[in-house]
Amino acid sequence: MGQQEIKIGYVKTKNIMTKSNLPLGGYSVNPYIGCPHACKYCYASFMKRFTGHKEDWGKFADVKDWVKIKNPKKYEGQRIVIGSVTDGYNPLEEKFANTRRLLEELQDSGADILICTKSDLVLRDLELLKKMNRNNKLTVSWSINTLDENFRKDMDEAVSIERRISAMKKVYDAGIRTVCFISPFFPGITDFETIFERVRNQCDLVWLENLNLRGGFKADIMKYIEQSYSELVPLYEEIYHKKNRSYFEAVEKKAREIAEKYECRFVDNEMPYERAKAGKPVIVDYFYHEEVRGSENSGQRNKKMGL
Ligand code: SF4
Repeated sequence: MGQQEIKIGYVKTKNIMTKSNLPLGGYSVNPYIGCPHACKYCYASFMKRFTGHKEDWGKFADVKDWVKIKNPKKYEGQRIVIGSVTDGYNPLEEKFANTRRLLEELQDSGADILICTKSDLVLRDLELLKKMNRNNKLTVSWSINTLDENFRKDMDEAVSIERRISAMKKVYDAGIRTVCFISPFFPGITDFETIFERVRNQCDLVWLENLNLRGGFKADIMKYIEQSYSELVPLYEEIYHKKNRSYFEAVEKKAREIAEKYECRFVDNEMPYERAKAGKPVIVDYFYHEEVRGSENSGQRNKKMGL
């Protein structure tokens, strides 16, 4: 998508750091409001309501200007997620460099910083990221839920999967911890094993998160499945209307088997900090993650809420 198609605004904010309600905890930081990547399943599209934007999700973006972070040390040891309701490396970043500014302000904070992206623009900042990674406190995650470029194009306007995979390798080879975030996992479409095989030598973690159909986009996704994958309609109805979890339970079982085959750790709802041995990324199960709040980093799902 060209930037000319996006309505760009500017907002001033006192504090760029927001306490997070993600399962990972800590702080979430979003240098933009809105996201030109325009993913059809974006749960952040609810942001539209709070910002007064009338444009479709993906068609607007506000560039934030914030009061400089005065005491970065305040975040020492804290987890900071960059890009929970936007992609900090969306195409506007090329011009506005807000994410770079944020990283520069946080570089001596001692925080555990996680960058979530679907872009390879992150490579522009590789030298800075290497410097920041002095104590292995940096992680970069790419969302990849398919190797099929046609499906990818149907779902988002970010860069190709090949570009994401190639960026992941460069960051991994630079000594920075990387994540392949298999999210959202589309039943019958996302092929976990093939993606895992493709990335296992260039990432430390593989995260699994199921497609969660809520809000306004549920109807759009169901319509898309009907039109493009009609054979999957009964499966989607079973999962998303009848709330049958057996499909994702089977995926979970398969993921465990793959973990055993490749001698990888398989954990539930955990964020291990060490780098994984080459070819043996830790597989982390975040299926139905909205139910696992409160058990962060325990490595175990709250049993009473289990799958
Ligand atoms: S990249 Fe993330 S924040 Fe941006 S539209 Fe896609 S899912 Fe939403």
